[in-house]
Amino acid sequence: MAPASGELIGVSDLVHVVRTDLVNWALIAEDDGVVLIDAGFPGQRGEVLASLRRLGFRASDVMAILLTHAHIDHLGTAIWFAAEHGTPVYCHADEIGHAKRDYLEQASPAGLVQHLWQPRWLKWSVQILGQGALIREGIPSARVFTEDVGANLPGRPITIPTPGHTGGHCSYLVDGVLVSGDALVTGHPTSARRGPQLLHSVFNHDDAGCLRSLDALAMLETEVLVPGHGDVWRGPIRELTRQAQS
Ligand SMILES: [Zn+2]
Repeated sequence: MAPASGELIGVSDLVHVVRTDLVNWALIAEDDGVVLIDAGFPGQRGEVLASLRRLGFRASDVMAILLTHAHIDHLGTAIWFAAEHGTPVYCHADEIGHAKRDYLEQASPAGLVQHLWQPRWLKWSVQILGQGALIREGIPSARVFTEDVGANLPGRPITIPTPGHTGGHCSYLVDGVLVSGDALVTGHPTSARRGPQLLHSVFNHDDAGCLRSLDALAMLETEVLVPGHGDVWRGPIRELTRQAQS
C-alpha cells in the first residue's frame, strides 16, 4: 500500500523523505543535526516542522537547507527558516539569482491556463494556490553550495548539476540516495502516469537540457531515487532514466 500523504519514510540510514500529494522534501539526519533537501510550499510549514519533530529535531536544529531549485514548491518554507532562524539556504551557483528572486523562471500563468480544462490540472491549481504558490518572496541570503559546505553536513551530500527544469537545477547524492528534485520525477498531480518521467514541458525552462541531465544521472551508480514529486523508486538509475525518456 502506498504511504499516506505527508508520512515520513525512511529511505536509508540517514535519508528520510516526506512525500506529499503536492511535493516531496528529504531530511538527512544524524545525531548532531539535520539537513533539509527542499522545503515544500510556504503553506506546508506545519508539515515540515512535524517531519523534523518525528526525527527529534526543532526548526532551530536545521543546519542547512539544500535546494534542488528555487521553484516555490521546493523553496517555500525555506523563506521562513532563513528569515526566522537564520538557517543557511544553499543551491547551485546558477540558481542563486532565482532563489533571491532577481528573476523568476516559473511556468507562466498563460501557459498553465491552457491546461485548466483538464480536471487534474484544475484541482492541482486550486490546491497550490492555497499553499502559497503565488508568493514572490525570495531568499536574499541564499548562498552557493560547495564541496566544503557538503563535507561538513550529515551524510556529506554532493551535487550533480542537472540544469533544464530550471537553469541552475541540481540533484544531490547522499548516503547512496539520489535526490533528484524535478530533474527526474515519478509522478505529479497533473500527470496520470506513475513511474520515472520528466515533468510536462510547460514546467521546464529547457526541455533539451532536461534530457541532457537525464544522461548525466544515468551515469551514477545509485539504485534509490527520491524525486521531487511522486514515490520513492528503486532500481538501477540508468534504467529509471531510460524509462523517463520513453
Ligand atoms: Zn520545479
